[in-house]
Order: sequence, then structure tokens, then C-alpha cells
Amino acid sequence: MGQILLKVCKAIILSRIQPDIEFKRELSRLSGSQLNMCMQCGNCSAVCSLAPAERPFPRKEMVWSGWGLKEKLIGNVDVWLCHQCGDCSSYCPREVKPADVIASIRQMSYQYYAKPGFMAKLVNKPAWLPVAIAIPVVVIILILTMAGSFKIPDGPVDYSAFFPHGWLNSTFSAITLLFYGLASWGIGSFWKDMKKQTPAREGGNGRLPLFKVLGEILTHSNFSACGSRPARKIAHMLLFFGFGLLVLVTLYAIWASITHNYPLPFLSPFKIAGNVASLMIVTGLGIMVSQRLINKEVFGKSSYSDWMLLISIAVLTLSGTFVELARFGNWAIAYHLYFFHLVAVWFVIMYLPFTKLGHIFYRTTALLYARSIGRK
Ligand code: SF4
Ligand code: SF4
Repeated sequence: MGQILLKVCKAIILSRIQPDIEFKRELSRLSGSQLNMCMQCGNCSAVCSLAPAERPFPRKEMVWSGWGLKEKLIGNVDVWLCHQCGDCSSYCPREVKPADVIASIRQMSYQYYAKPGFMAKLVNKPAWLPVAIAIPVVVIILILTMAGSFKIPDGPVDYSAFFPHGWLNSTFSAITLLFYGLASWGIGSFWKDMKKQTPAREGGNGRLPLFKVLGEILTHSNFSACGSRPARKIAHMLLFFGFGLLVLVTLYAIWASITHNYPLPFLSPFKIAGNVASLMIVTGLGIMVSQRLINKEVFGKSSYSDWMLLISIAVLTLSGTFVELARFGNWAIAYHLYFFHLVAVWFVIMYLPFTKLGHIFYRTTALLYARSIGRK
């Protein structure tokens, strides 16, 4: 009788909650977590310094993960409020690694919302790496061929004699706009899902608190709340501001190349700013990589997407520095280095919405939504 009752209850629950077993398997694989081991003790939510008092995370996400409730997890605003300090994993008595589970849900979310969907596969699956690299290589070769400059010039290194900057800038800008436009479509779907799953129940005036969220991002105040890992905040700030500075310098360099004020002299303030930005990025990356390698227990499982992001930013920054040195030193391989650097630029900047770096958009959107509904 007891068995029959149990089966009936299970059938009723399953008919109402529609678990996605494939999603659960993938989540378990990505996070390295035995999801069924969670006993719902709530320690993780109790120790999380970022969890709101109302419906705190990550305990509820853990039960949904155990049930494979994809619908509730993808488009869940709370997984983006987590800043992955790892405290919940440290205090989990069953070693279920909630911090890794939440990080993997974020990864599955930006892949889910990627438009077109195959772009997420292209940059997040190792098997597709050769294709992801081949695309920019072929496009750059096509540009060089069409511009008729596909021949290394004699004499001192002059990148503009080999690389048609006008063609490159316009093609790269058009493709970037296309990819980012498609990304905004995915972010629109993410916003709709957040509204559906976390309606405004905690107050909030419904207005978008742009300046408040901008302040949170610029000061990294949420990293301070996860106070147990201060090195993470420093590393993230170095990377964030270094990357921002590098984007500004690149935009100036594009403008300078259009107005024929190019290349920039060695002591140009913009060149110095670019070098400072590179130094900030390399230092931030160094801290992040060493933390991941030394504190494996805390940082948990590093996925292909994690490493791909760190390595591609490192390659972009270092190749940029070598391109600069090669020009001043008239190195024989200067043009090859520049070509390599352009592929790295494509990989980081153009593929950005589909990689882990896309969290710039998703986290900002989630913070805006959370604060607009009064979720703190
Ligand atoms: S993940 Fe760990 S700490 Fe959180 S509810 Fe489950 S068993 Fe408890
Ligand atoms: S990793 Fe840190 S911020 Fe994220 S849920 Fe766990 S304790 Fe909270």
C-alpha cells in the first residue's frame, strides 16, 4: 500500500514539474557535483553573504538542480547575483559543491540564450576549436587578398603597408555589430524569462536603477561582500579596468588610423595607457590562474570555458605587446605576429557574447532586473 502511495505521489509530482534528465546530467557533468547528495540542510544559503533574506539562494537552486528543473534554472536571476566566492561549497556537509553548480548554471544559461545557437557550441566545445580559429583566419586572408596587399613589404616594419586597416576596421566592426545585435536578442529573451520566473514580489519601483548598478559594478561591492577571498576582487578589478582601458585605446587607434595619425609614437599617452592596461590584465590573469591552480578546493572544477577565457585574453594581451615590440625592433616575424594578434582580437572581442566573457552583459542585465524589483 505504502509503495503504491509513493508511486502515485511521484507520478503526480512528475506530471507537474517536468524534469529534464538530460539537463540534469549535463549540469552534473559540468559542475562535477553529485546533485542527488544534497540533503537540503540550507547551510549554503545560511553562509552566503549575498543571498537575499527572501527566498535565498543557492539552496532552492540545489533542489531544482536535483530535480532537473531546467525551466526554473535557466532565466533564474539569482544565479547571476552569486559572485562565486566558494563559501557555500566550503560549508556544504555533503560536498555537493553548490558554488560550482551555480557557476555551471550560468554557463548553460549564456549558451542557451546564444543566438544563433551554434555559436555557443563553436566557442565552448573543444572539438570545435579548429573551426573557431579557422573562421577569422580565412576572413583575414580574404580581406588581404581582396585589398591586394597580400605580400610582405620590404624595409622597416609598416603594418599599414600589409594590413589594409580601412578594410579590416570596417569588416571587423560590421561583424562585431552583427554578433552583438544577435546577443541583444538573446538578452531580451533572458529578461522575459526572469520576469516570468521572479516576478516583483519584494517591492521595488520597477524603474531601472542604472547608476546604482553601475556603481555596484565599478566598485565591485559584491566581491567585497564575499570577503573571504579578497584576491578575487583585486584580480577581477585589474582585469575589468585593464580590459576597459584597452578597449578605449583600441577605439582611439582605429580613429587615428582613419585620420592618418598612425602608427602612434612610442611615448604617445595612448600607447602608454595601452601598455599599462596590458600590465593590469596580465597581473589580474596571473592572480586568477594561480588561485585556480592553488585553491582547487575552493575554486572547484575549472571548465573548458573558464580556461578558454583566461587563455584567450592572455594571448590577446601578450600578442599585442609583441606586435608593438616587433614594430620598434623591426623583427622579421612582425607581420605574422600581427596576423596572429588579429585572430586573437576576433576570438575575444567578436566571440565575446558567446563566451564566458558574455557574463558582462548577462550579469549586468540580471543586476538591473533584481534591483528594479527590490531584490537585494
Ligand atoms: S548544497 Fe550542501 S549545504 Fe546546500 S542544502 Fe545541499 S547539502 Fe546543504
Ligand atoms: S559562491 Fe558565494 S556568492 Fe555564490 S552562492 Fe555560494 S556563498 Fe553565495
